[in-house]
Amino acid sequence: MIRPTSDKFRWKDVDVLPYKEDGGTHFKSISRQTLFNGENDLPVEFRYFEIGAGGHSTLEKHHHQHAVMIIRGSGQVFVGDKVTPINTHDIVHIPTLTWHQFRATNDEEMGFLCIVANDRDRPQRPGPEDLEELKKIEGVGEFIRV
Ligand code: MN
Repeated sequence: MIRPTSDKFRWKDVDVLPYKEDGGTHFKSISRQTLFNGENDLPVEFRYFEIGAGGHSTLEKHHHQHAVMIIRGSGQVFVGDKVTPINTHDIVHIPTLTWHQFRATNDEEMGFLCIVANDRDRPQRPGPEDLEELKKIEGVGEFIRV
């Protein structure tokens, strides 16, 4: 059992970590807490990510999938070929090999739970040709951050 602290979006004995280990400028203002990291019978990681106002996750795709539930604030998500507003309690599925990026665009932080397989491939980031294609999609060019 892991219980929350008095801050509902922090948990006892769970470290608040950088979003990704490699640093870089392809994401902004985002933290990670690993709430469950199972093996064998339940080989998934269950994480809580929080994006500060104006921040964003990495624009990426990969073979593994994500199941996401927003539990704090609101913002927007780009999945595949569409940018969509997202609010607390919305659930987002990121299919395999699908470009995606979360942004806290509403002057508030946005927090979400994310389930991912333990055994997974590394995310791919867009190259110049990918970006060229993405920018052709209406509403996407202005939205994405790289
Ligand atoms: Mn991802």
